[in-house]
Order: sequence, then C-alpha cells, then structure tokens
Amino acid sequence: MSEEKRIALITGASSGIGRVTAIELAKEGCTAIINYYPVPACEADAINVVKEIEALGGTAKAIACDVTKSEEVEKMVSQIMEEFGRIDVLVNNAGITRDGLLVRMSDDDWERVINTNLNSVFYVTRPVAKIMMKQRSGNIVNMASITGVYGNAGQANYASTKAAVIGFTKTIAKELASRGIVANAVAPGFIATPMTEKLDTEKIAERIPLKRLGTPEDIADLVKFLSKPNLYITGQVIGVDGGLVI
Ligand code: NAP
Repeated sequence: MSEEKRIALITGASSGIGRVTAIELAKEGCTAIINYYPVPACEADAINVVKEIEALGGTAKAIACDVTKSEEVEKMVSQIMEEFGRIDVLVNNAGITRDGLLVRMSDDDWERVINTNLNSVFYVTRPVAKIMMKQRSGNIVNMASITGVYGNAGQANYASTKAAVIGFTKTIAKELASRGIVANAVAPGFIATPMTEKLDTEKIAERIPLKRLGTPEDIADLVKFLSKPNLYITGQVIGVDGGLVI
C-alpha cells in the first residue's frame, strides 16, 4: 500500500488498552475502527474516542458489536468492507474478568469469560483472516495475559482463555504466514485500566521489579510495533509486565 490508509479494527476499544491502542494506531496513520459493546455508556465512550482521534487529525469510526455473537461479528466485518474495502490490522482486545476460586466459580462466570475472551477471538479472526488472505497481507495482535502463561489463583476461567489465545495465535501464525499475514500475542502484567481499578494497586506495584503498574500506552507501544507492515516477527508471545515474571 502506498497512499491509501491502513484500516485497523480494535475490539473493545471504548476504554482502557483498546482505547489508547486505537488512538496510537490512528496517530500512525491508520483509520481506526472502534468496536464497542452495544450499550449506551460504551457508545458514548466510543464516540469520544472517535472525536479525540479526529481532533488529532486522524480518522476513525465507531461500530457497535457484541463480539461474543458470531452473526453480529460477520455483520460488523461486512460493514467495514463495504465502507473501507480492506482490513490491515486486527487487534483482538475485548475482554472481561469474573474472578473467583475454582470451587466457588459458577457456570455463568466460566461461560461468560470463555465467550468474551476466547470465542470472540475466533469469531472475529475467522472472517478477517479470509480478507487478509485475499490481500496477501495483514497483522493480527491478540491480547493475552501473563496469567495465560503462568496461571493465577482466582482466575481459572480467565487464565484458561488467555492460554488458549496463545495457542490460537501460534496456530494461526503457522496457517497464515504463507499469505503474508503475521499473528502475535501481547501478554500484559498489571495495567492500570478499568479492569484493575478495584485491585490494591499500591501493594501490586511493590511486587513489580519496575515498581509501577503498566499504562495502556505501554501496551499500545508494542501493539503499534506488531502492526507494522512487512513485520518479520510472527507466532510470538511478548510480555509487558515491568519484570513481574522473569
Ligand atoms: P477494559 O478497560 O475493561 O477494556 C475491555 C473492553 O472490552 C471494554 O471496553 C469492554 O466493554 C469491552 N468488551 C467486553 N465485552 C465485550 C463484548 N462482548 N463485545 C465488545 N466489547 C466488549 O480492560 P483492559 O484492561 O483495557 O483490557 C483489555 C484487554 O487486555 C483484555 O483482553 C484484558 O484481558 C487484557 N489484559 C488486561 C490486563 C490489565 O491489567 N488491565 C492484564 C492482562 C491482560 P465494557 O466497558 O462494556 O465492559
């Protein structure tokens, strides 16, 4: 691609890491597609992200879609193709936690986390990969977690999804490489976002060698790098955790 803008789809981009990643990709010249969960509060947040990007001179569009619903995802991807004609970068970022010890974990807490953090990655990546295969290029970045590599008491549901996302990333990296598509996973440690705001962040910071929680910008920096055209890195899991796990 020369003059044309690259199109980046970021799921769950109305807040936290997704929001900052969308802004950073837009600063790099991508048109950022801000996917958000279809409720009024997220819509308002997503519209603000679009305004913020436009104020910086970039381009963005907000699209509502519950990424746990395969049919809704297909519609979202078709809408992007009708309007923009291509997808160059996919950031599978939407995620939730429903923490609890295994013996007390309800079926609902298990299933919601599996649907949101894992099934969504499959539902979104499948149609986008078909498009990227035709383009013979594309960058896929999946948001995993260090819990997916090392486990974490109280997060059997969450850690299972993130471990699966890592397996998924390595597999699609192998399947799609011959078509010029790269797929990598980012494994954040503790990042200051709405997801972690209820935690005792001062106590957590003491355990981190770099003595602070990460910021969404710390994650977005890496996603930006992994979204570059002609990247010679694929199938990797890269930790961004201030040295928490070495
Ligand atoms: P966040 O601010 O809660 O962002 C998650 C976003 O995903 C929210 O905007 C959320 O919308 C959206 N979302 C949830 N379910 C969705 C659905 N079905 N369809 C569309 N969007 C949906 O948390 P975050 O910390 O930025 O998390 C982003 C990613 O990083 C997640 O995958 C998370 O697992 C991962 N991560 C975070 C940390 C951390 O310490 N923060 C560490 C490791 C990994 P709502 O606002 O409606 O929930």
